[in-house]
Parts: sequence; structure tokens; C-alpha cells
Amino acid sequence: MAYNLPATRLLMNRLRQVMAEEGETRSRLDKVVRLIASTMVADVCSIYLRLQDGELLLIATEGLKADAVAATRLKANEGLVGLVARRAEPMAIQDAPRHSSFSYRPETGEDPFHAFLGVPILRGGRVIGVLTVQNRTERAYDDEEVDNLQTIAMVLAEIVDRIDPDALNNGGDEKRERNTASLKGRVFCEGLGYGRAVLHDPVVPAAKFFAADQVTESRRLKEGMEELKASIDRMMALDGAALGEDPRDVMETYRLLAHDPSWAEKLQEGVKSGLSAEASVDRARREHRARLQSARDPYLRERLHDLEDLDNRLLRILGGDEGKPEISEERSVLVARRLGPAELLEYSNTGLRAILMEEAAASSHAAIVARALGIPTLGGIEGLTTRIDQGDWVIVDAEDGTLHIRPDDTLYDAYKDRVSLRSDRQAAYAALKDMPARTTDGVDISLMLNAGLDLDMEMMHQVGADGVGLFRTEFQFLVSETLPRVNDQIDLYKRVLDKADGKPVIFRTVDLGGDKVLPALNLQREENPALGWRSIRFALDHKGLFRRQLRALVRAAGTRPLTVMFPMVTLPSEFEEARELLFREVDWSEKRTGQRPCKVEVGVMLETPALAYSLPELSGSAEFLSVGTNDLMQFFFAADRMTPSVSDRYDMVCPSALRFLRDVSKSCKANNIRMSACGEATGTPLSALCFVALGFTTLSMSAASIGPVKQMIRSVNLEKFQTDFLAALDAPEPDFRNQVLALAADHGVELTDG
Ligand code: PEP
Ligand code: MG
Repeated sequence: MAYNLPATRLLMNRLRQVMAEEGETRSRLDKVVRLIASTMVADVCSIYLRLQDGELLLIATEGLKADAVAATRLKANEGLVGLVARRAEPMAIQDAPRHSSFSYRPETGEDPFHAFLGVPILRGGRVIGVLTVQNRTERAYDDEEVDNLQTIAMVLAEIVDRIDPDALNNGGDEKRERNTASLKGRVFCEGLGYGRAVLHDPVVPAAKFFAADQVTESRRLKEGMEELKASIDRMMALDGAALGEDPRDVMETYRLLAHDPSWAEKLQEGVKSGLSAEASVDRARREHRARLQSARDPYLRERLHDLEDLDNRLLRILGGDEGKPEISEERSVLVARRLGPAELLEYSNTGLRAILMEEAAASSHAAIVARALGIPTLGGIEGLTTRIDQGDWVIVDAEDGTLHIRPDDTLYDAYKDRVSLRSDRQAAYAALKDMPARTTDGVDISLMLNAGLDLDMEMMHQVGADGVGLFRTEFQFLVSETLPRVNDQIDLYKRVLDKADGKPVIFRTVDLGGDKVLPALNLQREENPALGWRSIRFALDHKGLFRRQLRALVRAAGTRPLTVMFPMVTLPSEFEEARELLFREVDWSEKRTGQRPCKVEVGVMLETPALAYSLPELSGSAEFLSVGTNDLMQFFFAADRMTPSVSDRYDMVCPSALRFLRDVSKSCKANNIRMSACGEATGTPLSALCFVALGFTTLSMSAASIGPVKQMIRSVNLEKFQTDFLAALDAPEPDFRNQVLALAADHGVELTDG
């Protein structure tokens, strides 16, 4: 085969012309296959379109019988073409009829052809078609030919994706109205939003596929790659200073990949064949994505993720300042495969209406930031980024976890109404802001905020919370690429105390490990991370890190009161050890600065059932206890909070969990330990009602929950409800949740959202 780079370039140039031509799609495709066949000296060139049901329809051919076009359909797993589509990988076969997957279709006149080369046509990570060339004689296609056919397939993707298979026989260029679709996801932050999709990962528009001048383009690519490597080296250098020891594995892998000469070579080849630098990187990205879709091995998946991240970084560098998607004032919904928390923070104040992520963990750091920003967010949507195109209209129902892509007008109007209804409800909550959370029989409940970022402090005032009941200090660690230094920690804690303006703030010490993995710390993989080396266990084993944090807290408080609580305590001795370290820092700080907090209060989180039976030992040293329902309930029910199939399987509003909490409440009173609760459950009016009925007078929750919970509290006569509730707990009906709901209704309790 007379195949070489100048010929490819020529082909690219001609392709560019054909792509730019006006006219019917079908005739453009015919020109394209003719062009490819002649340039590649192939006897056949064909294009297959993948239909909704996975079947592959022949839509253009040079060399096979013309009347097979728009008629020959291959089943999803039929023949070599089906195999290419299924594997999303190129296949070069010397003697096709001898291959076990070969399928013979007499209507195409395919019998005399032996050599076969097929490549997937990819858009996003989705296979939308297959491009093939065939030769009469047996022959081996070399790597360069495979690569080049892939490049052509990428260019073709734009046209192929728009073809309407039903209109093929009369031109095919009725723009295919892409179907509406509904996908399910997990609610990361509640709310409703709609708008146009903005893809977080850089998009290379078809108009930017080809380069006019290869020398300039090749230089641009080279400079881009140099900048990429330098930026990674800069990050490594920073990490080195901050981390010590050997926590650099992750970054090192990243660097190795960036320095891999075969990656650079492949990208340069793309440019040599006539592609723009961006298109060449995009081609590599499509391959990585497609392989990721089919890869099962976790190690390989990680590496492919890394490669795709590198592709994206390079695309951003090549795009200069425009590398980041523009969020216009009109309604925008951010669509991302995964997002780092710092990346998401960069979108704050841009007016985003909603966020969609393929990433599955509700406790992922980006999900946490999304909650802090109060933007409706859905996650865990499989195949998200391959189903949505830039600019598609979407409705995000982060109340029931549904995403509607390209909705029709009726649905759209219905949602517009729901959005305005929801904002009416929000306005009603806002009106309660300055009213006390007082029951009708005069019991005051303190409603506090779960926070973790500076941003949350404004929220605290906005929603009228009584303070911060849980400040998750690990967020600062999670949103930065390196471990925060003591001074950075002091700055944050000071800002938080300043912004709290005298209201109480409970700082929870670092709760790392488990689902909160810090790449920089290079923790070993664990079979059961939730039960593993995490939280206070981790902190007590990393005393340097832990003491620096305690020091930062003491320094930030100055002479102000300081309240600290320790997470995931299982044994009283763990609490005592941590408490002693704290007071050592208080004394040390006083010696150095002459200052100490006017009052230091120390509390413990109840997150393991074991601790519930150790409260007598904590009496006198722990001033307060806060029930962390997220972890406590996962241990109580032995159901991983991160695994969707079990995380919602058990209802906290059930006799066993509530009797356990009743015992905790009694033990706290007997041992003179103030009690409160934080965790997701406190934010649902019904479970919050159970907590107050069990004697809890302080609840800490996310900002969005304060309104609905306050409304509930202001409607309940606690003493009367409590009597009936405790009686029901002793004589529960099989459907206890319904029993409590009915009881609440009898007592006129206002329960919204749950
Ligand atoms: C909890 O476990 O309930 C809790 C509040 O802590 P986190 O969700 O941060 O683990
Ligand atoms: Mg916890």
C-alpha cells in the first residue's frame, strides 16, 4: 500500500474541503469513502452507523454494492464490524474470512475481500459508528495506517453523529433531532435547575480540527507539552517541601505519563497528518475514554483516568485562558466526568444552575463543595458525558434524582412551575430566619450549621443558624493539592471565628481516611476503608500532623473560647490521648505567646456503637457529645454509606436505631455530658422530630435544612408529642415510619421534604 504522511495530509486537506461543502450528507459521505479508498489504495471503504438498538447500518461505501447502503444492518455483535464497535478498538486482520467473528453478507458482494481494517467512530466515549477499509488480497495493515484511519474516523464523527438513518435514502441530511432521554443519578445537593449543558472537559469544535500550517502547529504542541510538564514539576516541587517522606506516588505516575515519549510522538504524528494540536490531543483523549469504558481492571482504569486528565490539562493549556469553559449569564449547567473540589470552587459566583457528575460518591469532595455552594447537584450518572453534547438543554431534578436531557416543551414547562414553587417555599423559610426555633410549648432548640469552608460562614448568617455545630476541618486538606501549612490553618480558623461573630463554632479535628482520601498522603489501599485507618486513629498515628492542627486551632482562638471535638472515637483512651495533646498545645502556646483561650471545651463524636457504652468513663472529661449519624448508622446497620445498593436500605426512623439513641440520651444525662447530633439525618424534618422527642436540644445540619427543620419545630408541642412517641417506641407497629408520620399528623406537626 502506497501510504505515507504527505498522502495523509493531502487526504486531510481534501476531507476538510468535503466537510466544509454544502450539500446532502449522503453525497458528502460518498465522496469521503471514495477519497479514503483511493488515498489508502483500498478496494473498499465503508461507514457504518450505530443505531439506537446497537445495530450497525451501512451508510456509505466505495467498493461494496451500492444498493446495500441503508439496507445492510449488522446485529450489535455480528461480524468484525460488530466486534470493533463492541470493543471500541481498532482491528486489523490479514485474512478476514478465517476470523471466528467473520460474518458473510452476500448482498454486499463482500466475498472476494480478505484484508480488513476497522476503527470505531467515537464521540465522547461513545461508539457512534465504524469505519472500515478492505483489500482483495491478504495483507497486514501497519500501525501508521491504523492510526491514520482513526484520525479520519475522528474527523468523520461530526458528520456521522448528525445523520438521520431514516432520511438516508433522500439525502440523509435532515438534522437528526437527538432524542430526549432521562437518566437516574444520586442527589448530592438537593434542588431543581435547568439550563444549557456546559462541558467541563474542553471541547474541540469541528472548525478547529485542521491546521493550516503544520510547522507552527507542531511548535504549539511542543510548547504546550513543555508547559504541561513544567506545571507538573512545579506541583511536585511544592509537594516535596510540604510532605516529606514518600507520599509522591500519585504525582510521580502523573509525571511519568507526561514525560512518556510515545505519548508525545503520537500527538506529534497527529499534527503531521494535518490535524490541529487540539484535534490531535482530542484524538488521544477519545481513545483513552473508549478504553476506559471497557476496562474493568481498577489499576488500568486509574491509569486511563490519569491519561485523560493529562489530555484535558494539555487541551486547557493549548486553549490559553479560554481553556476553561465560559459560563454565560444565561442558564448554564455544568457537566463533568469528575471534578476536583478546587476546580469546582473556581465556578463559584458564576451563576451555575446545576451540576452533573459521572462520579458516584455523594461524599466526594466535589459533592461536598457543591453542597456548600448550594447548587443542585446529581452524581453517579453512568455514561453522562457521552450522552450530553455542549449546549444541550437539560433539567436537573435533584429532588428525586432524575436528569432529563433535551426535554420536550411539556416537561420543560412543568419544571419551570416546580422551580418557581420551590423558590416560594424557600422564601417562606427565609421569613423564619430571625424567628426562634421554639416549640409551641416553649422549648428552644438550637439549630446549628455543618460547615467546612469559608463560604459556609456567610450561609450561617443567611439562614439564621445559631452557630457551627460541626466544622469539618479536613476540607481544607481535601481542597488543596498539598498539605496546608500551620499558618494556612491558622488563617482559616481565624477567618471562621471572625465571621462567626461570637456565635459558637465546634471545630472537629481532621477526619481523614475512609472515604476522605488525600492523594498527597499516599495511604495504603484498604479492604474496608470505613473500618480502617482513619479519623482519630490516623491522627493519633500521625502526631506531627495532628499537633500542628491543634496548635493552629489554639493560635487562631487567641483569647477567644475554643471548642474542639474528636471524630470516630471508639475507646475512652483515644479521647483522653487526643484531649491531652490539645491541652499540651494550649499550655505551650501560653508559654510562647502569653495567651490562652478564655475557655476550652472538648467534645467527642459518637460514631461507633462501642463508645455509647463508655460514657461513664468520659464523664468529667468530655463536655459534650455529638452523634454523627452518617458513620454511626453505617456501623449500626452494617451497611456501607458509600454503596448505593445498601446505603438507603435501612431506615433510621426504626425502633432499633431510635431505642439505641434513647439509651445514649439517658446515658448522656446520667453522666452529665451535653448532647447534640450532626450528620445528614438531623436535616430531615421527620428524623429531626425523632431526635427532639428523644431529648436532643441541639441539632447541626446543612444550610438548606435549617428552614424546613425550624418550621417543623415551631409547629410541635414537644411534651405532648414526646409522650405518644415514646409509647410508640415501646409498642411499635411493623411500619414504624408510617406510625410516626401518622402521629406527627395527629399532633399537627408540619413536615415538609420528608
Ligand atoms: C457523621 O459521620 O455523621 C459525620 C457528621 O461525619 P462525616 O459525615 O464527616 O463522616
Ligand atoms: Mg463521620
